[in-house]
This record gives sequence, C-alpha cells and structure tokens, in this order.
Amino acid sequence: MRQEETIRREILEQRIDRELEALSEKLFGKKLEDASDEQVYVALLYLVKGLEEATVPNDGDKKIYYISAEFLIGKLLSNNLINLGIYEKVESVLKSKGKELSRIEEIEPEPSLGNGGLGRLAACFMDSIATLGLPGEGIGLNYHFGLFKQVFKDRLQTTEKNDWIEKDSWLNKTDVSFDVFFGDRKVTSRLYDIDVVGYNNGVNKLRLFDIESVDESIVKEGITFDKEAIEKNLTLFLYPDDSDEAGNLLRIYQQYFMVSNAAQLILMEMKEKQYDLRKMYDYAVIQINDTHPSMIIPELIRILVNDKAFTMDEAIEVVSKTCAYTNHTILAEALEKWPLSYLEKVVPQLVPIIKELSARVAAKYSDPKVQIIDDQNRVHMAHMDIHYGFSVNGVAAIHTEILKDTELHAFYEIYPEKFNNKTNGITFRRWLLSCNRELAALITEKIGTGYQKDAMELEKLLAFKDDEEFLNDLVKIKREKKEALVAHIKEHEGEELNPDSIFDIQIKRLHEYKRQQMNALYIIHKYLEIKGGKKPARPLTFIFGAKAAPAYVIARDIIHLLLVLQQIINNDPDVKDYMKVVMVENYNVSYAEKLIPACDISEQISLASKEASGTGNMKMMLNGAVTLGTADGANVEIHDLVGDDNIYIFGENSEQVIDHYAKADYVSRSFYEKSPVIKAAVDFIVSDQALAVGHKENLERLYNELLNKDWFMTLLDLEDYIATKDRMFADYEDQEKWKRMMVVNIAKAGFFSSDRTIAEYNRDIWKLK
Ligand SMILES: *Cc1c(COP(=O)(O)O)cnc(C)c1O
Repeated sequence: MRQEETIRREILEQRIDRELEALSEKLFGKKLEDASDEQVYVALLYLVKGLEEATVPNDGDKKIYYISAEFLIGKLLSNNLINLGIYEKVESVLKSKGKELSRIEEIEPEPSLGNGGLGRLAACFMDSIATLGLPGEGIGLNYHFGLFKQVFKDRLQTTEKNDWIEKDSWLNKTDVSFDVFFGDRKVTSRLYDIDVVGYNNGVNKLRLFDIESVDESIVKEGITFDKEAIEKNLTLFLYPDDSDEAGNLLRIYQQYFMVSNAAQLILMEMKEKQYDLRKMYDYAVIQINDTHPSMIIPELIRILVNDKAFTMDEAIEVVSKTCAYTNHTILAEALEKWPLSYLEKVVPQLVPIIKELSARVAAKYSDPKVQIIDDQNRVHMAHMDIHYGFSVNGVAAIHTEILKDTELHAFYEIYPEKFNNKTNGITFRRWLLSCNRELAALITEKIGTGYQKDAMELEKLLAFKDDEEFLNDLVKIKREKKEALVAHIKEHEGEELNPDSIFDIQIKRLHEYKRQQMNALYIIHKYLEIKGGKKPARPLTFIFGAKAAPAYVIARDIIHLLLVLQQIINNDPDVKDYMKVVMVENYNVSYAEKLIPACDISEQISLASKEASGTGNMKMMLNGAVTLGTADGANVEIHDLVGDDNIYIFGENSEQVIDHYAKADYVSRSFYEKSPVIKAAVDFIVSDQALAVGHKENLERLYNELLNKDWFMTLLDLEDYIATKDRMFADYEDQEKWKRMMVVNIAKAGFFSSDRTIAEYNRDIWKLK
C-alpha cells in the first residue's frame, strides 16, 4: 500500500504539467494559459491536495497530540510546493503558460487562526514534526473570522472580521463528528483537517474542530455579535473580547469545546488501534500549549472514571503520565485563572473533578502559592497542569530559569524533575527557503543543500566571512529585498521609502512590555535632532507592524502615536529625506515574509524578563539582520552564539528588573525629570504639533500613563537605548564590519531551527518511536 502511494506520487509529479492542464479543464473548462490567476490558484490547490493525499502519513505506535488554541499557519501554497519538492517545477510549468507563480501566491487568503508568537510557534512545530517524520497531529479550532483584521481609520486601529474561508480551501471536511455537552446544552462538532506536509517527508494532520450550526451572519458591525448564542458563535472568533462576563464565558465554552473534541478523538484513535487505555501514556502524549487547553486534564479523568471504569486514582495516574505543559509567559495577567462560578455555568460536569484535583493538592501542600483553587475561588489553570502533568517547559533558557527561580519557584521545589527548557525555534522552510529564495540560493551555492536538513551546517558560512564576492552578493540580495518591500509598502500603505536608507524594523504584537513606545520615543528624539540641524549620516526608515488587542486601551493609544508620528515626519519637508516612519496595516504572516528579508536592524527591546523567548528575533537573524535588544528571552542565546561583536545589547538585565518590581522602586517621573532628552521626547506626545494631527484623548492618556505608571519601565532603558541605537547606525557606515556581522548572524542561526526544538521535545518529553 505504502509503496503504491509513493509510486502514485512519483507519477503525479512527473506529470505536473498534464495534471494542471487537466485540472484547469475539469474545473473551469479552460486551457491553463487561458485561465485567470485565481483559477490557476485553485488548480494548484487541488494539485497539491492530491499530492498530499498520495503522501505516506507519518505513523507509529506513539503519537504526539499538540493541542493549541492557535495555529498561525500563514498561506500554504508556496510552502507546500517547497516541502513537496516541486516548487521549481511548478514555477517553470506556469511560466511556459505565461503565468507568474509569485503573483498567484498573492491570491491565497491567509488563514486567521492565530494571534502572535505562540500560534506561529505551533505552526512551525507542525512543519518540523512532519519533516522529522514523527507521528503527531495538531488539534485546535476552525475560527471562521479568526483574529480580527486591522484597519486604520483616522490614525486609529479599527477591527473587522477576517473572512478567510473560501469555497476552495485547504480545509478537508471529514466525517468525524462528536457531541459536546455544556451541562445539559449540547452542540455537535465537525472535524476539518488540513494536511501538513514535511520537507521531502511524510504528512501529518492539523485537526480543526468546528460546529455545523455556526452562523456567520450574526456578526454585525466590525466584530460585534451576540456572545450568548453559543450554537451560532462558538467558532467565529479567536479570543473574543473578554472585558465582560459573557466574553469570559465564551472563551471557556471554546476551550472546553476544543478539549472535549480532542479527548474524544484521542480515545477514538486508541480504540481503533485497540490500545490498552490503562497504558494510554505508551501510545499518546498530549502537549498542552499554554493554558487554553488545560481542561483536557480533568476532561480525560472524567471520561475514564465515568465511562471506562477507572477509579479516580487510576485515572489521575494515567492522565498525569500523558500530559505535558508548555509555559509561554510570566505576565501574571496572561496566566488564566477562571472563577469557579464561571466553570459551574459552562462545564458543571468538570467542577467536581477540578475540586477533587484541588483537594488532593491542598491535603498535601499547605503553601497557598501552589493551590489549584485559591481563596477567591479561582481555578489556576497552570497550577493544574503542573501538578497533573509530567513535564513543565519554558521556551528559552532565561525564561525557564526565571520560572524555576521566581514565578514557579514553589512548584520547582516540589517537582524539580518536571522542569525543562525547550528554546523555541522557527521553520527554515518558511523563514528562509520560501520567504528569501535568493538568499537560500546563495547559501546553497556556497555550502550545498545540507543546511536544509541540518541547520547547524549554516556555520560553514563562517569560512566565507572574508570572501568579498560572497559579502557583496549578500548585500545585493538585502538591497533587492528592500526594493521589493518598498514597492509593497508603496502599494499597500501609500508611503514612499528609500531603499538606500537603514531599515529598522519592529514587528510583533503591540504590548507595553515589548516597548514599541520606547522605539517611538527614540523616533521623536531623532526627529527633534534633525529639526535642530543634526542630520544622520544616512537616511533612516523605521517600520512597525502590530495589532493591539481590541480591549487593550494603551496599546491602541501607542498605535495612534505611531501613526501620528508617521503623518508628521513623512510630511515634514525639513525631515522626510532623512527619516521616515511607517506603521503597516494588518501585520500578519504574509507581511512578515516581506518585511523580514528586508530588515537591517531587528528591534527586540522588551523589558528584560518579560519576553519568554521571541521568535521574530530568530527569523530576522536568519535573514541577515543584526539584533538591537535587551538581555531577554532568546536574545540571550543569540548573544551567546554570535558574541559581543555581532549584536547590540542594552538596558538593565532581568535580575535588576525583577528587583525593581520586588522593591517597587521604579518611578518613571524621576527619569523624566532628570533627563532633558527624555523630557523633550515625552512632552512631544502632547505638543501642539502632535495634537494638531492626533486625538487629545489618546495622546494625553498615553502621556499620563508614561509619566505616572509605566508599569513596563519604558524610561528605565531609554537613554541607553538611544546611545546604543545611534552607535549601531554609525557602525552601519562601516560596511565591511556590517557585512561580516550579517554573515555571523546567518551562520549562527542554525540553532534556532524548530527541527532542533522538536528533536529536543521528542528526546526529553514525547519519546516517540
Ligand atoms: C514570528 C511572528 C510573531 C512573533 O514575533 P515576536 O517578535 O517573537 O513577538 C508574531 N506574528 C507573526 C505574524 C509572526 O510571524
């Protein structure tokens, strides 16, 4: 059977031209050369789906179920073509018919199934699991409108639904369907699959659950809808607004819907393969990605006890040996704590189990810090995961250390053996081979294709550190990528950028801890300097991309400030030839793929201790950018790899920052008062010039926040940031030095391949094969 499938695939590959012709004829009654780009896209979609179907599924006696509320997979066409090894073939077939693959790729809508780094990580992991040939699947939800689409109006972020599912899509409807009960309320699920094909390897599935009764028409203006109509709204949006009780309940409905389906699917597969449920951990491992899927633990225990004749002790033991938890944050507000009363409303059947789990902990440990249900009757989801899972991992070395030493220290004392680190990674298929084909080709020319399977081979590039021809080719590609981005930004944002300027890029979710506001203050400072006659050696371009959670007021105010600065600076005749600012609209994976190859300076300036890992930092390094960052998350490991001479680290370190929080001794106003440079930059936010363009309410609120609260310590590192960034711009003028820094960064990026991360998960936690 397998052999037959392989042969069928080989035959299909040899006949790609004929297959595409046949699909075009069958679907549209047209020759390929007469088909529109949209039609060619659909023909390619079905060609790839056919090939995926004919690819051997990764199988084995133990399987990883990676459960995640988000899978930020991005567009799939070009990545699937690359992973199937037919990109060039398809490109040349299309060319012979007068079609351009790169134009056709643009037609695909980007699936809107994730929010930021955590969801993108899950997507990179799916690619690496498939590429390493591991049996496994992702389990999540099929949000019809996903995260919102960001639209700027009047220099403010507005939100619209992101309608990404078309008639012809990567989703495959299956005949799998389960009943999910919320107390007495029942909904029926429907499973959709997306095939995830590995790089020249097998195929796995991303399992996305949906409801058939979902009703897109209940979404009225923007992204508002009736939050209580569960049968209609359950799978409409990722992270519906939780600023009221109905929104919180909806999130719990979604989470339970996800894990109930996951549990039923896992048990169904166990049954089909006639595995012994009492040894579930020999056949299945469940990775709980952040706390959104945590209810899988009590749900599995409930089913084993109620339906499978397990005692409570037995069920707890089996489930605890099957589940592992990944922590993604130390931000207290991001660690979910559901009021027991909410759980009673949505999933009353789980409450007795959760109470039992909590009681067992309370009987053993008196420390209030490790309780599952606290004295305010809130259920700490992460605590349940740690007590009743066999592994707890952080996502970068420093993050795991902070968990062990500080945030989860009390747990580390109880279970030192459960704690381990798995530094995040990125798939090089998407973040190099696909988004920067020119750079990949240059690397291949120098060191062969080995790095595509073993990313550590990128280190061979160090041998070319003084090879003038190679260095010049590198710079040439960077320049081409900047030109391509300039054209894209002209078309989509209407801003005219200079490809000879330095591209300084900060792209990530908008959050105060990531400190886009600190970057904005630098930009104000630079603007004032230029106005005062001090011109930079070379024009500077500052690019941002970021969505703010709709309920996060200050984050939206920061976006407003950036758009106000864009308006003022790009239209100031004294300044616009020396600097520009662009905040791109609706930053997503597709935009990232255009921005990252064009980046010179990678802004990774989070307040030390707050960014668990970051993965944008890895993507930009891989594409030859140099990092400007704090000693936070994976920046620390980048620093260790490239050395002091190839990265720019500034600001206070995590110990110092943690100490400020412990002592409550950070006072932003004192920084403002003692530094004229800081004062001038902050004051500009509410200057007449800014207020003439922006809204008083937003700008004043942000100004007051910075002066009176500034919880994430923007002003703490601002002076060092300004000095370090200026030094970096000066160093850029030493192109011989800069080119070598580019090479070292690319050469040392191999460690951040998600293939390495997944191999470590498998070695230490999953133990598949
Ligand atoms: C990689 C990526 C992220 C994560 O970026 P960080 O800088 O690590 O926060 C967020 N969004 C998109 C679209 C990405 O591709």
